[in-house]
Amino acid sequence: MTGASGRTALVTGASRGIGRAVAERLAAEGAYVVVHYGSRKDAAEETVAAIRRSGGQAFALRAELGVDGDVDTLFAGLEEALAGRPLDILVNNAAFIDYGATIDAVTPDAYERQFATNVRAPLFVTQRALRLMTDGGRIINISSGVTWFATPEIVYAMTKGALNVFSRSLARTLGPRGITVNTVSPGITGTDMNDWLRDPDATRRVAGMTALGRPGEPADIGDVVAFLASDDARWITGQTIEVNGGLYLG
Ligand code: NDP
Repeated sequence: MTGASGRTALVTGASRGIGRAVAERLAAEGAYVVVHYGSRKDAAEETVAAIRRSGGQAFALRAELGVDGDVDTLFAGLEEALAGRPLDILVNNAAFIDYGATIDAVTPDAYERQFATNVRAPLFVTQRALRLMTDGGRIINISSGVTWFATPEIVYAMTKGALNVFSRSLARTLGPRGITVNTVSPGITGTDMNDWLRDPDATRRVAGMTALGRPGEPADIGDVVAFLASDDARWITGQTIEVNGGLYLG
């Protein structure tokens, strides 16, 4: 795979989990990675330190998404971090799941909060990023398998469905600039979001539903994102790649 040497990347929600794995892999490919986070400064600094220990370049940037002024805060910091360089790669990864937002319990406020973080933020982050992005750039949105399998967390699933639609339409719009837009759709992956997987019985159940016989690990996702960010993926756009080890294949 051709690397990302000399390129710049913004990975939202890169302090932990899948975003961290994406940031580490892009940095290993030679990219200068802006490690965005919301509140866990300790985790973001640990991600940056890990990248630097491995010889990579990274910068931690805080901006809570889903609140007023979020995009302005993010881009003030991003422009400082890039110091005049263009942006080559954007990974919209930050999101949260509200396990209480089921059909019988969701409130309008809970709905708004989840859409503000998981949908509104990626939309307006992308809008602003396009001013800094080179032609031939890469946008990768992190969705979820809940767009095709049923889950009680209905609002979370709806946010990810919206993101899939966003990616596809955006890919059409940005084609003339040579910017590819793709969606990576993880299956059940061991991160803080899925802390219920720490229960060995839950892990066994997920393994049993998965052709490759285990839950996903963040690096399983990070490696695919890095491929889509690479020159080797130049002819892939508007696609949703399911990265789940064969979840629910029967
Ligand atoms: P984690 O909960 O482990 O990490 C979430 C990351 O997003 C953290 O870096 C967190 O920052 C950041 N974040 C969350 N909310 C906000 C916010 N309001 N403002 C700024 N930053 C925020 O999540 P995962 O790694 O599991 O998930 C990453 C992506 O993958 C998400 O889009 C998720 O929907 C998707 N996904 C995950 C699956 C899984 O099984 N884990 C399955 C399918 C999709 P901080 O550390 O500062 O809190």
